[in-house]
Amino acid sequence: MKNNSFIDEFYSLVQVDDSDGHYAKDIKDNVYFGMPLEAIVEAEKRLRLANQRCIAYFSMEYGLATSFYNKLSSQLPLNPSNKLPENAVFSNYRVADYFFALHQNNIIDLPIYSGGLGVLAGDTVKTMADYNLPAVGLGILWNSGYFRQKFWFKYGQAPEKMHWDPFTYPGLIPLKNRIKISLKPEDVYLRLWKYYVYSYKHDSVVPLILLDSNIEPNSQRARQLTDQLYRSDNIFLKLLQRVMLGFGGVGALTDLGYNIDTYHLNEGHAVFAFIAKARGLAKDEVENLKNKFVYTCHTPVEAGHDRFSFDDLNKVLKKEDTDTIERFGKERSGSANLTLLSMNISSAMNAVSRNHSRVMHIQFPKYKDQIQYVTNGVHPHTWISEQFKALFEKFPAIFPNFLANPMILAKAIELKADASFRAQLWQAHQANKTDLCKFLEKWKLSKDLFTICWARRVAAYKRPSLILHDINRLTRIAQEVGPLQIILAGKAHPNDNLGFTYINEMLDKVDKLNVDYDKLKIIVLENYDISLGKNLTSSVDVWLNNPLPPFEASGTSGMKAILNGVLQMSTVDGWVAEATHRKIGAFFGYQNSADSVGNESDLRMNEDSEELYRALENMISLYYKTNQQGKVDISSDWIDMMIECICVAGQFNTYRMLDQYKHLIWKIF
Ligand SMILES: *Cc1c(COP(=O)(O)O)cnc(C)c1O
Repeated sequence: MKNNSFIDEFYSLVQVDDSDGHYAKDIKDNVYFGMPLEAIVEAEKRLRLANQRCIAYFSMEYGLATSFYNKLSSQLPLNPSNKLPENAVFSNYRVADYFFALHQNNIIDLPIYSGGLGVLAGDTVKTMADYNLPAVGLGILWNSGYFRQKFWFKYGQAPEKMHWDPFTYPGLIPLKNRIKISLKPEDVYLRLWKYYVYSYKHDSVVPLILLDSNIEPNSQRARQLTDQLYRSDNIFLKLLQRVMLGFGGVGALTDLGYNIDTYHLNEGHAVFAFIAKARGLAKDEVENLKNKFVYTCHTPVEAGHDRFSFDDLNKVLKKEDTDTIERFGKERSGSANLTLLSMNISSAMNAVSRNHSRVMHIQFPKYKDQIQYVTNGVHPHTWISEQFKALFEKFPAIFPNFLANPMILAKAIELKADASFRAQLWQAHQANKTDLCKFLEKWKLSKDLFTICWARRVAAYKRPSLILHDINRLTRIAQEVGPLQIILAGKAHPNDNLGFTYINEMLDKVDKLNVDYDKLKIIVLENYDISLGKNLTSSVDVWLNNPLPPFEASGTSGMKAILNGVLQMSTVDGWVAEATHRKIGAFFGYQNSADSVGNESDLRMNEDSEELYRALENMISLYYKTNQQGKVDISSDWIDMMIECICVAGQFNTYRMLDQYKHLIWKIF
């Protein structure tokens, strides 16, 4: 019996819906899809105890990088609908584009994210597991993910519906539990799913609960609510997606018997959790409830603050609920503002970088004293390449146990004069870059040519085409200063018309290029996702980030890059504003004044592209002094900067971030 003990406990704690027995093949012998079952049993028991100060983390999206980090294994063969699709490439080497696409014979990442907010949530729960915190994540099982980006020749992006199969995704299990949400027009039932997020040592987990309305006996309309992330073409869909997360999440916690002390709202999307908890409480009890809620705001962009009219809210929610919303979230215009509501019902709140907190202080002066900041980070174990992990392990005197304490990377500075480290650092980078060249083999990239990448969500304030702003100038730089390889990638939200325009413009400009391909290669990759993100952030020479300050709350892709010694070229915004005193690359462009938010639609393309090109010329010159056709000058300033990047990565990671959440926001130690 003893051998069997975790299995029995697991099945008594977790009501797996396994009518045909296929999950039993992967959950047996105290193993859960290749990982230890014991960690799950411990976490499930702990969440049900009193006085554990458990944290429930609510987020609309999670980017967990499940395709390469702590990948769970299944006895079943990989379902073809869960394989990464074949992606096209659009470049100024059109012959290759016509004949080849990119194949990745790997599983997709759990498709329940759209971009940076989701990756941050995923990196947060992974770090909670590393810290062995009593925590649970709540999110939504998006039946059609976000969307798949297809290029339509040079004419732009055609969003396609994404298909995947949750029933055969390794590690994802449906539960028998059902949650009922009573809304004015109809009742909606939610099925619960679980995915266990393991620590890097596999000895601890954070359960992720995913809500799903795609079940009987829901109406067709209700079944669409958890279909596609961030549908915004219909105001009721948009509202109900948020209601599902808040009401459904609270319902799930109750149904599972979890004892929650702190409700963490990752963005205002989740604020209906408070409305659900406030039901039936007297006024002073509602005031006390605030002590259990904390809130992280992620956007300084006006469109990022969700607003709903009370007319619309009244059509969906019952009077008690709209009364609570009116009490805490009604703004002067008469609408319900979810940002305002979140601030009013939370006992601690934060912006996601110092710059972002300043913007919030201007936008919400009444809350100035309450709004703190915890700068975002990235989960080091997810984003560090194998090459760099191996490199750090070769210097244990400098980086003792850097896996348990990534903050130790700050000590890389002590290796600045170590010729052997400098040489191995360069080799590790070149090995990563060689892998990228192999991945893009048909496009004939060279590991000894200067390579820069811009890859992120396509939105106006991020200025996706800044580097293409003056194609003649760019061509001249490539011909006179040194050859250039540019990689671009990013999706625009399907309802963001301006975003569409940028992608059109990008493709159109690349199409018109007629410069010698050996001098200037521009490669636009379709369907930017986490696996491409991992690939690109770890292997180009320079990571380009050019948002219009102060509209980038934090940004995190540059943090993934510095962890792998990839230099930065960036405007001074988000996290970068906290690192400009460090020599990690080149900073350029407009800087906002400290007391105003400025104008989001004045993109300053002419001035800032001019500064970008000047910075680019300097970077290219230094690069070719460092890498002379494969012969490297180990004493180069370039390598000093790579080392500095690694030092700075000791700060911009989720371990530092979680320490700050513990002290400032959750107040658990
Ligand atoms: C890291 C990441 C992001 C966030 O990057 P930003 O710098 O915040 O734009 C977005 N999408 C993917 C796929 C990522 O991996």
